[in-house]
Amino acid sequence: MPRFRTILDTMPSYKPGKAVVSADGRSFKLSSNETPYDPLPSVVDAVAAAAREMHRYPDPAAVRLTEAIAGRFDVPAEHVALGAGSVTVAQQLLATVGEPGAEVIYAWRSFEAYPLLADLAGATSVKVPLTGETHDLDAMAEAITPRTRLVFVCNPNNPTGTAVRRAELESFLDRVPADVLVVLDEAYREYVRDVDVPDGLTLYPDRPNVAVLRTFSKAYGLAGLRVGYLIGHEPVAAAVRKVMVPFAINHLAQAAALASLAAEDELLERVDAVVKERTRVRETLIAQGWTVPASEANFIWLRLGDDTAAFAEACAAEGVAVRPFHPEGARVSIGDPDANDAFLTAAAGFSPR
Ligand SMILES: *Cc1c(COP(=O)(O)O)cnc(C)c1O
Repeated sequence: MPRFRTILDTMPSYKPGKAVVSADGRSFKLSSNETPYDPLPSVVDAVAAAAREMHRYPDPAAVRLTEAIAGRFDVPAEHVALGAGSVTVAQQLLATVGEPGAEVIYAWRSFEAYPLLADLAGATSVKVPLTGETHDLDAMAEAITPRTRLVFVCNPNNPTGTAVRRAELESFLDRVPADVLVVLDEAYREYVRDVDVPDGLTLYPDRPNVAVLRTFSKAYGLAGLRVGYLIGHEPVAAAVRKVMVPFAINHLAQAAALASLAAEDELLERVDAVVKERTRVRETLIAQGWTVPASEANFIWLRLGDDTAAFAEACAAEGVAVRPFHPEGARVSIGDPDANDAFLTAAAGFSPR
């Protein structure tokens, strides 16, 4: 038997959202925070055209896409580093700082990839409990030790949808030592409507130890093609580029991301529609008697405790797949109105034990 790293014995494995079908054949996937919309024809066309070049290796440095992102956000191209999805960029980040003894701090519960990636990098996870469904930035600052190398702040937080605001985030950043990297994971930035929730790109310019993670998977609808990126100062971006597996961002993904930036207005209109549905879903749930934290993302969070698994089953009976984290709660993506109605029917009929 080959010898594997011992961490593989205790590492959690990533559990993807599962499809469910109701008895009468209905199926709504509200478990992975995907966009409910089909890809834009202009993006499909760009991918189809790029397919004619699939016998060639992709541009390893993704020069055109890097320049397009830099231009879109008005940052130097040297500040942009790409990866095959922002999860992979996070893995690259951990590869730049992770080693035995290195500590990585993040809130818990937060994005379920963080523990996995920290383990894989040989780093030690320090999980700081949420307070009232949001990051406890004071406790996170207090958790920093001389061994801390990286802190993730997932804003808005997956799976609770809550967001930290500018004043608290700035005072947290002021407390973080200069040699600790703070990564603002803004996978859901396009869905934020609270004007006090800062855009990380306004926070990083005068903070060399702050970087922002973004993705094409959610608002831009490219979850299946895998493109994400980091924007940070040159030493950070250069380190992340250095540890990228060669050719990680494939040619079709580069073409799709470029076409999506070109069609951004259309995509952001769809985001507006999802945000409207988010308001409707939350208000309906509250009218049903549920407690629902305000969400700045394309999902909502119900703290169900021991009822979590039963709730997910009740949703499945309506054909709705949600993401249960038993025995804490369930995350439910905002889908199209039909999917949301099916979910609201399940929620209305559920009686907590
Ligand atoms: C969905 C999500 C991502 C994006 O992952 P990709 O690898 O870009 O698809 C990153 N961070 C968080 C918190 C997410 O929820």
